[in-house]
Amino acid sequence: ASKIIGLTGGIGSGKTTVAKFIENCGFPVYYSDERAKAIVNENDSLKQRIKDLLGSDSYDEKGLYNRKFVGEKVFNNDELLGQLNEIIHPAVREDFEQWVAQQTKYLIFKETALLFELKLHLQCYKSLLVTAEDNIRIKRVMDRDGKTYREVESVMNNQMSEKDKIKMADFVIYNNTNLEDLQEDTEKIIFEIE
Ligand code: ATP
Repeated sequence: ASKIIGLTGGIGSGKTTVAKFIENCGFPVYYSDERAKAIVNENDSLKQRIKDLLGSDSYDEKGLYNRKFVGEKVFNNDELLGQLNEIIHPAVREDFEQWVAQQTKYLIFKETALLFELKLHLQCYKSLLVTAEDNIRIKRVMDRDGKTYREVESVMNNQMSEKDKIKMADFVIYNNTNLEDLQEDTEKIIFEIE
């Protein structure tokens, strides 16, 4: 069986960039957050359960997930958000398990923003955290998404602290310099895991 490495990092840490470097090295990456976004449009029984929970407006007339509507419904309602996650998370887990079963490489990676928050690292062989100083992450997301300093900062303040994540991670990449260093550090770590 393949060994699963959990790949994570807070907003703007560079985890997606690292994931691409890993793929360039020939190792498969499962993008959990991207898959979760697709799954809400793919699975009919899951669609129905979301509509039952939040209302038929959760999907538009074309049957596509209405992220804005759902976001507003669960905003500041932890109970509803919890119930929504109880529908979505098992579906993503199942999708991931099917993906894992198809893999042949000895090392495979699972990218997810919530590796430690959802305790998914417990189901991984090792965990790899990408981190960078707050100001650097904020600046990168401002440049990437055109968001304001305060918008990025508020997302960041709702995530688990870097200090706690660093304590939990088996491997840490400090992404404070440039893309060349990031690629080099990523390749070094993959070699260390092997
Ligand atoms: P999010 O969780 O917000 O999606 P992420 O952790 O996936 O973020 P990336 O999208 O990989 O982060 O990186 C954030 C932005 O910073 C991207 O535009 C990326 O190109 C840029 N970036 C990442 N690392 C570096 C670096 N070392 N030097 C310059 N730019 C970088």
